[in-house]
Amino acid sequence: MNSHSMAKRMESVHSDIRGPIYEEAMRMRAQGTDVLRLNTGNPATFGFKMPDSIRKALFESADNAVAYCDLKGMEAARAAIRAYHREKNVNVREDDIFIGNGVSELVPMALETLVYIGDEVLVPSPSYSLWTNSVFLSDASPVFYTCDEKNAWFPDVEDIRRKITPKTKAIVLINPNNPTGALYPRELLEKITALAEEHSLAILSDEIYDRLVFDKKEHVSTASLTDKVLVVTMNGLSKSHVICGFRVGWMTVSGPRSLVEEFKDGVTKLCSMRLCANTLGQSCIPAALADRTSTEAMIAPGGRLYEQSRATVEELRKIDGVSVVPNSAAFYVFPKIDKKRYKIENDNEFALSFLKAKNVLIIPGSGFDWPHNDHFRIVMLPEEKTLRKAIRDLGNYLAERERTHL
Ligand code: PLP
Repeated sequence: MNSHSMAKRMESVHSDIRGPIYEEAMRMRAQGTDVLRLNTGNPATFGFKMPDSIRKALFESADNAVAYCDLKGMEAARAAIRAYHREKNVNVREDDIFIGNGVSELVPMALETLVYIGDEVLVPSPSYSLWTNSVFLSDASPVFYTCDEKNAWFPDVEDIRRKITPKTKAIVLINPNNPTGALYPRELLEKITALAEEHSLAILSDEIYDRLVFDKKEHVSTASLTDKVLVVTMNGLSKSHVICGFRVGWMTVSGPRSLVEEFKDGVTKLCSMRLCANTLGQSCIPAALADRTSTEAMIAPGGRLYEQSRATVEELRKIDGVSVVPNSAAFYVFPKIDKKRYKIENDNEFALSFLKAKNVLIIPGSGFDWPHNDHFRIVMLPEEKTLRKAIRDLGNYLAERERTHL
């Protein structure tokens, strides 16, 4: 009789956003402690409201969303997605678009299709663990390239180059980035696509935060820069339209036709296994992509995301031994702590002890495949007042920690 109920590959999969520190926070809450949860990017839990455009689309389309739809997604939704990506100079057909139950469903599908035992996938460090975990689930190996804090958290192109081997199959880009909030400039993306072309690597580009960019900076879609390699672009409505729970994401496939068609054949098999993605969620896509104003209201000066980011950075900079690169997009920052000064040898210990001392849940850097025990991520979704207090609590905690560890 088989004495195991979990396959070996699951040992590599890590879920820190809902891991042991999260479980402790849940225990504390169950005992009546009011824990501030800065662990997930779930805007609706912090008072962000679903736009009226989405509410209207939902009610108007409910009757047409009852049946299974095409396994790739509803036609009107794919037409709207195609128009959106064309605006960003990405040349895809409606047939090259797959709608899924969030980007989270599509990333494993893309990797299962593309890679196999013995393949290597270049993944950023720090990174959003969905990507690393999906590489493990495909029985391939993640190889981490460094994003350089001293250079605005941009990927270190020379590090990427050094890590390319004959086994390398693909490179993952998360732009704008989670957990750093960095936005990559065109010239950097051009260098990375040139490398991919030189070594015939596929590019997997997660662009779910592309509409949440501050200061009217341009978001360049990687797929607009090359037609010589396969580019799979991920996007969705969870963040820009505050509907994480509806599970609406999509991927577009571009590049040389023969590679595109082969990849699509694989993905189609996987999509057919789940028949179709949630149709009610999909029916919001045309209205959402036509509604830019509700997203812009969050990121413009005076908007919540903009002001909460400024307040967070301002408060963090008041703490000795903590430094931060301000985010240009999304709602995350990934501050650094002077680990010698605060005697931090294990960032999980630090996050757990801060949670117990101040009732604030943060995810340490190791949860984002960052190996140095000296960073943590803040989700800047609570109201400004709450964020300021949480960061002052961090400053007080660190001061107490320094005193007790002298
Ligand atoms: N990709 C990145 C970079 C994310 O930060 C997240 C969620 O936080 C996702 C994908 C998941 O998005 P979805 O809600 O579409 O599954």
